[in-house]
Amino acid sequence: MLGPVLLAASRSDRMRRVVAAAPVTRPVVKRFIAGDELDPAMDTVRGLTAGGLEVTLDHLGEDVTDRATAQATRDAYLRLLETLRKDDLGPRAEVSVKLSAFGQSLPDGGHDIALANVREVAELATEIGTTVTLDMEDHTTVDSTLAILHELRRAHPQTGAVLQSYLFRTEDDARALAVAGSRVRLVKGAYKEPADVALQDKKDVDRAYVRALRILFEGEGYPMVGSHDPRMIAIAQDLAARNHRVAGSYEFQMLYGIRTAEQRRLADEGERMRIYVPYGADWYGYFMRRLAERPANLAFFLRSFLPA
Ligand code: FAD
Repeated sequence: MLGPVLLAASRSDRMRRVVAAAPVTRPVVKRFIAGDELDPAMDTVRGLTAGGLEVTLDHLGEDVTDRATAQATRDAYLRLLETLRKDDLGPRAEVSVKLSAFGQSLPDGGHDIALANVREVAELATEIGTTVTLDMEDHTTVDSTLAILHELRRAHPQTGAVLQSYLFRTEDDARALAVAGSRVRLVKGAYKEPADVALQDKKDVDRAYVRALRILFEGEGYPMVGSHDPRMIAIAQDLAARNHRVAGSYEFQMLYGIRTAEQRRLADEGERMRIYVPYGADWYGYFMRRLAERPANLAFFLRSFLPA
């Protein structure tokens, strides 16, 4: 019940101001976000990669409403990639981008503005030997995001994208993307979507996840299993074995701060395990989606308001 309320709140500017101003918010936010700035996030990245994990970094931000902010997002990613180059983190650290932060939803030519901005990021990523993955946002953005993926893959075929199993269209999208060289992160989906485009029942979303997983593992591409769900992880390992996939021809991905023991366990088993590491000051939308996913996170957050 609370999930949809929190997802609605994740898009409210009023709630953003209230939550961000509460001093008790900080320690809870720290569980999910690697820092407001790049420097502390890089300390996290160095620690994770030294321990044999891989990372994808997300400079937090979404839904920008002007060109200057979209360009600032691009510049933040270029700085991030230069830092990865200096640290020689190459393919062990890649970047994830939300196209709405690159201008995708701007009224005049948002699609082209986002493409031009993200193209510069993809060019530098290729130059330093790493990759870009396009996060997937709400369903209104999917066509534009997949079209941008298609454009980027002409020069940068290793560019990845995310598919969300809750959308009715996803099995078709998975089939189209299960081709050689294509990197697809499959997730269940984190936005509040209407019943005419998305499954509403969690069990149905889980079943759809398994169907899309099967398509990706049986195909020619590189599946990226974006889930903390032990059942989905076991099914993915089974599909990898049945399809004679060797370690390194697929990977697992989890969010920073969630099921860290399981992240370690999979890496120790020899699986490629990548951690999605978000950083930056604009953490509100990301943070609220994490609360919405799990009532226990909300209880943890609310308890922090009580006097010690
Ligand atoms: P669930 O069934 O939701 O959870 C399974 C178990 O995982 C839970 O029982 C719990 O133990 C643990 N868990 C799950 N979520 C949390 C949490 N927030 N806090 C604590 N424990 C938790 N969604 C998008 O819409 N677009 C994206 O681009 C996108 N990128 C993602 C990238 C990565 C690497 C990952 C892992 C997720 C991403 N998501 C994205 C979020 C995704 O859609 C789900 O909302 C989220 O992963 C929860 O689903 P689940 O598969 O983990 O399974």
